[in-house]
Amino acid sequence: MAVNGTGPYDPDNIFAKILHGDIPCNKVFENEWVLAFHDIAPKAPVHVIIIPKKPYVSFIDFSKNAAPEEISALMQSTGHIAAELNLNEAGYRIITNAGQNAGQEVPHFHLHLLGGKALPPFPV
Ligand code: AMP
Repeated sequence: MAVNGTGPYDPDNIFAKILHGDIPCNKVFENEWVLAFHDIAPKAPVHVIIIPKKPYVSFIDFSKNAAPEEISALMQSTGHIAAELNLNEAGYRIITNAGQNAGQEVPHFHLHLLGGKALPPFPV
């Protein structure tokens, strides 16, 4: 079910539970600012979810309220993960869903990193 990506942050959302260690994830990468893990229902051979550790609902929330080093960390971590997963040569896609119209299901801002096959024409 899609969520209201402009609403208040729900501290009980599933990615918050992963961040708190309440439920497990298949971790790909972690640093001070960022956690990345394999999507539980992958839409491509590589499907990684990349999240800031701090609580933001959506891209707009993150872009308005995150510190510059946090924004840099998310971008650099995503590039690092894509390179480490050998996606550079064949290509990859990075998307974020925000709010009901985009079908956002988890109300903690996240990037999807997709690759490992020829992806369908955008939008996927
Ligand atoms: P979105 O629709 O952009 O909010 O995407 C949410 C994504 O989170 C979906 O691709 C789900 O498959 C994924 N997801 C939901 N629960 C988990 C979980 N426990 N571990 C990993 N990925 C999850």
